[in-house]
Amino acid sequence: MKKDDNCIFCKIANGEIPSATVYEDEEFRAILDLGPASVGHTLILPKGHAADILEMKEDTALLGRAFALAGKIGEAQKKGLKAAGFNVVQNNGTAAGQTVFHFHIHVIPRYEGGEEMVAWKPGSQEEDARNKTAEAIRAAL
Ligand code: 5GP
Ligand code: ZN
Repeated sequence: MKKDDNCIFCKIANGEIPSATVYEDEEFRAILDLGPASVGHTLILPKGHAADILEMKEDTALLGRAFALAGKIGEAQKKGLKAAGFNVVQNNGTAAGQTVFHFHIHVIPRYEGGEEMVAWKPGSQEEDARNKTAEAIRAAL
């Protein structure tokens, strides 16, 4: 994947803009989020540009390594920051809260007695409607 000269996360991932880096290899840089949900909130950025997961999906190996790295960072947050758990979050599209259009994974440590991340209120759907919804997704795959 190539860099995009107009993308701020391409510049950060490739070291052209400094960041609080927690991990780097030839494919990724993991940095602290400027507006953290909790102390240690980390973003995993591939060094190549892809706007979102739809642009990443052709490269399943890279995507797999990105999520494996999310687990490694979460484990380090537990050991290094005494986090009790962590959320792995990845937003796609404005409607889903994506604000920077360079694929990234959030790894958000959660602390004992701290705020939990609950991104939705559990709702309900009748069985017929649920089956139709499942069919609509199945048919689109
Ligand atoms: P999104 O909402 O797109 O999933 O997440 C973008 C995240 O990037 C936000 O949590 C925001 O705080 C963070 N962010 C935006 N600009 C910068 C930046 O220049 N540096 C860092 N470290 N984080 C940024
Ligand atoms: Zn980019």
